[in-house]
Order: sequence, then C-alpha cells, then structure tokens
Amino acid sequence: LFISFEGVDGAGKTTQVQRLRDYAEAQGREVVVTREPGGTALGCSLRELLLQERDTGDVGDTAGCAIGGCGGGRSDCGVAVGAGGGVALGKGGVADGAEGRKVDTADIAPRTEALLFAADRAQHVAEVIAPALARGAVVVSDRYIDSSLAYQAGGRELTVNEVRELNVWATRGLLPDRTYLLDMDPEASHLRFAHREDRIESVGLEFQRRTREEFIQLAGADPDRFRVIDASQSVERVWDDIVRDFNGLLRN
Ligand code: C5P
Ligand code: MG
Repeated sequence: LFISFEGVDGAGKTTQVQRLRDYAEAQGREVVVTREPGGTALGCSLRELLLQERDTGDVGDTAGCAIGGCGGGRSDCGVAVGAGGGVALGKGGVADGAEGRKVDTADIAPRTEALLFAADRAQHVAEVIAPALARGAVVVSDRYIDSSLAYQAGGRELTVNEVRELNVWATRGLLPDRTYLLDMDPEASHLRFAHREDRIESVGLEFQRRTREEFIQLAGADPDRFRVIDASQSVERVWDDIVRDFNGLLRN
C-alpha cells in the first residue's frame, strides 16, 4: 500500500505522516516513512542543492533528514556544500570559468529543476519505495509526483503534461494508491513556516497560490486516488478524516 501526502508548505503533512506511521505500526504492519526531495542519500544531495535550506529548527525536517540519511553540510556526491548557500564545484571538466564558481540556485533553469526533482524521485522509487512495496510494507511519502506537477509546472512555466511525462518515465508509472491533499490557504499556512526559509518557499505567496490551485485541479481530475482534506482544521480533525479513509482502504 502506497500513500502520499501533498499540499503547500505548512499544511501539516509531516505531522500527519507521523501519525499515520504510528497508527499502522500499532496494527503490526511494516511502515516505511519517507519524503521528497531527499528520501535517499543521492536525494539528500539534490535536496541540499535545490533548497539550500537555512535552518529550520523544524522537527519534521530534521526527522526527515535522519530517514533519508542526510548528513551535515557535506553531501555524498563529494561537492562541498557551503553554509552560505553555494556549492563549490570540484576541479575538472567545467567550462569557461564556471569552475570553482558557486551554484546560484536562482540560476537553475525550470527544465533543470524539473529534471533534478525527477532524478530524486527516480532514485527514491528504485531504492526505497519499490522494494518496500514488494515486501508488503505500507509506504508513506511526504510529497511525491504531484508536488512536481504543482511546483515545477503549476508554479512555473512548464506544462503539467510535460512534467507528468518526465515523471511517469522516472517512476516507471508508479502512482500512490491514495494521496491525501492537505488543502489550505497559503496565506494561513505561511504563518506556520514563517521561521523557515528556503529558496523555493521564498518565492512568495503568489507562487504558493498557483501551487495550491494546481493541487486542487489534480485532485479533481483523479478523485479515485485523491482525498482532499481541509488542513485548516485542528490536527485532530485532520487526522480523523485521514484515519477514517485509511481504514476504508485497508478493508478493500
Ligand atoms: O515539504 P518540504 O518542506 O520538505 O519541501 C521542501 C520544499 O521543496 C518546499 O518548500 C517545496 O516548495 C519545494 N518542492 C518543490 N518541488 C517539489 C517538491 C518540493 O519545489 N517537487
Ligand atoms: Mg518546506
């Protein structure tokens, strides 16, 4: 059983993911909790590169890092990730004075960004999700393909169809059995992550609004897979909605 959680930043995905894990584990099931970007060691390197998170102090993010194996400031691909938000490229093979220059994430082109998130996802499926599903575990992922459709397409200049095509290829077409969209007005959710800032979150409220709209459209187009949950409710109410549906899923 493959479950994903989606929604704008601050909607409460991480909290509900942990509840669902506790609940399913208490039933004696194997549960694999994971997240994107950064569910694998390679994914952690990509996460550091893409988000350059300033810190956080956010429990969910820290837990996610432990799950995904994110270490400190040094990534597994051997590039040094600077605290100042740049990545110093190693020697060799870099053209025209680019060598030694830091990657400015503001310069990452939309197609490049979509490819990097898709690369994270391809590795995530191959290394974590598919093997866990094969041995019968419940997999619960904090974000999956719909985040790319909403952020790399809805929020930016690529079309949903082209981003979908890329990701269907990257994942061999693996979709969740259920996707909980924790829906919330970005203005309200913004208050919940005001203490955090990363490159993508810092693009602002208009971007978050487009992202939310895209999530809602995706849900409307695939009502069998999606359940839209009002995330402005209390944590308890949100959980009630999820667990009722989850129990239904287990019965089928
Ligand atoms: O959910 P989490 O805080 O781990 O997400 C990290 C950031 O990555 C979010 O701010 C989200 O805006 C961004 N993101 C993205 N495209 C994705 C997944 C996440 O822009 N496909
Ligand atoms: Mg975030």
